[in-house]
Order: sequence, then structure tokens, then C-alpha cells
Amino acid sequence: MTTAPTPKASIMKIEPYVGGKSKAPGVARVIKLSSNENPWGPSPKAIQAFAEEATHLNRYPDGGHFALREAIGKLHHFPVEQLICGAGSDELLGLLTHAFAGEGDEVLYSVHGFLMYKIYTLAAGATPVSAPEKDLHTDVDALLAAVTPRTKIVFVANPNNPTGTVIPFSEIRRLRAGLPEQVILGLDAAYAEYIDDPAYEAGESLVNEGTNTVVFHTFSKIYGLPALRLGWAFGPAAIIDAMNRIRSPFNVNSAALAAGVAALNDQEYIRDMRIRNADELKRLRHSLKPLGYEYVPSAANFLLVKFGAEEVPIINRFLRHEGLIVREVDAYGLPDYLRISIGTTEENTLLIDALTRYKHDKK
Ligand code: PMP
Repeated sequence: MTTAPTPKASIMKIEPYVGGKSKAPGVARVIKLSSNENPWGPSPKAIQAFAEEATHLNRYPDGGHFALREAIGKLHHFPVEQLICGAGSDELLGLLTHAFAGEGDEVLYSVHGFLMYKIYTLAAGATPVSAPEKDLHTDVDALLAAVTPRTKIVFVANPNNPTGTVIPFSEIRRLRAGLPEQVILGLDAAYAEYIDDPAYEAGESLVNEGTNTVVFHTFSKIYGLPALRLGWAFGPAAIIDAMNRIRSPFNVNSAALAAGVAALNDQEYIRDMRIRNADELKRLRHSLKPLGYEYVPSAANFLLVKFGAEEVPIINRFLRHEGLIVREVDAYGLPDYLRISIGTTEENTLLIDALTRYKHDKK
């Protein structure tokens, strides 16, 4: 008789991450508005760079990601030795957690924060701690009140997913100032590029001020490259060094590296994406108002819309029949809401039409 191996106790506490759905059985055309993707896709220059990589797939990628780090450094004026690249920012969030938190330590985030913070904390054997939010916004006082001598990392996504809300940089600065110096502040800027407000800052100046702050970025959102899995982080050299020690040597593939450089170098395309998203977000908001649906103010490429816990499954089923796939967010403690990613103009029109019909049929 064989005995089944037993995973570490903390691993079995993990609720596996379930991504946005992409199928609606029996529906001819599926419109996926469930994973906060860029519906217009990446820059054509990134697609070309990706395709060119096909001619030398027999070679390992550059394990030091030099060209990509150089391109990021040049665009944002960061020293390359303070940059690290990963297979999505997900991988980097995990590397930071594994490198700095373990048994007996705590990792703190806000209650409707991105689910991977909790998953990586448990994977590292540490204890996840969540702080309440205020009106679905990150609450700096609540986070500071939850800090204990065991706290190793505080994660804040700004804008946050799935709420879409953003807090001013002055609040992020206040959080940093209130944290003990040895606590790492992980600022998740996955949706930062959607913001056009000159007062907004993801938090890079805190890194430059020498505090233990790490800022995470992704190519999965405005850059439109989630299929390639690519992200980067900027932090103090000592923290980046620790993360590098535990990452796998060729964690980012050549096609992702090449497409990433080309995408970064096409900032005109990114500006266009920012404008298109803002226009469509505005149109969706304005269309929801007459239908009587409330939504949470979003600074990103999705909108959290309140339908009420009873109606959420009904409306979700109705939309699925129409081929429109949105995201239930009860796993985030938000059973009253559906999260709807911003689609193309045509896709959003189909969504608005479907919601209008739903509302009309209900009368
Ligand atoms: N942070 C936040 C807040 C996110 O919403 C996501 C993607 N859903 C990620 C990080 C991870 O993105 P990726 O691994 O694709 O870079």
C-alpha cells in the first residue's frame, strides 16, 4: 500500500485562483469582458517583434533580461540594477513574498485586494492579514492599525482590482511614513498606465527616496500582452537581489522579452489606448446611469457594477446567454457586484444593449 504524500499544511489552506471565464456554451460569438484585458490588443510593433523570435527558438532567452530592463530604465529613468522582470507581475509578487515572508510572519493587504497576495502568502507559509476598506477604497489608517511586529510586507494595488478605486499619492506616502522601516511596501501598479492625472504617481519616488518600497508593473493590461506573461518591478537593489536569487534562471521567454521592448518603445500606441479606454469607460458609466445601476468610480479598464446579491447570478446568466462574459467577484467578498472589463466600442454597445433589454424585460 502506498501512502499519499502530504503537502505542507499552509498549502492546503489556499483556495486556487480562478481566472475570468472565456466560454459561453452554445453561443456563437463570445465577448470576453472578464479579465481586464486590452480589447484592442498590443501594438503591431510588439506582434512583429514576437513573430521575429520564431526564427531562433533553439536558443535560450537572455536570463538577465538586459534589453528589456534597459528599455524600461530608459523610459522611466530607473537604474537597470533596480529592475527585475518576471512571467507576469504575478510571478514577481510571489518572489517578493517567498523571499521575505515565512512561518510566523504576516503579510497585510486590504480586504478587497487582489487575490494573489493571499495565495502567495499562504504558499510561503506566512499568515495573510486583511484590513477593512472605506467605501471600497484602500484605507491607510486601517492598514496601519493592522501592522504588528510580525508584518513583513504590505501590498496595495492602486488602482485596486476588482474595485477600480484609486487613492491619492499623498495617502500612499502617509502609509509609507507610518510603516516601520523594515516593512516592505509592495505597490501594485498593474493599472497605473490607464491614469491620465498628472497628480497620480504609482510610487516610484518612494523607491528613490530609499524606503523599502517595490513597485510592480505588468504588460498584461494596457500593453495588451497577457498571453506572453510579462511583468517587471522596481525596487531597492538589495530587495531586487534577493528576488533574483530565487527566480528561475530563464523565467521570461524570448518572445515575451522582444515583444515587451517593442511595446514599450511604442508609447504613442499606449497613449491611444489610454484615451480609448477613458472614452469607453465614460460611455459605459453614462449608459448605466439611466438604467439605475450604481457603479464604483474606476480609474482602470473595468467597472464594478452593483446589481445586488440576488440579481447577480440572474443577470450573469442572462449576459452569458448573450455571449457577454463578465466576472463574478464574490471570491473578493463583493457578492453584490459584477466586474465588467471595458471592451471595444462595438462590444460595449452590445453590453449596453443587453443590459437595457434585461431591464426592460424585467418590467
Ligand atoms: N495585480 C493586479 C492588481 C491585477 O489585477 C493583476 C492581473 N489580474 C496582476 C497583478 C497580475 O497580472 P500579470 O501576472 O498578468 O502581470
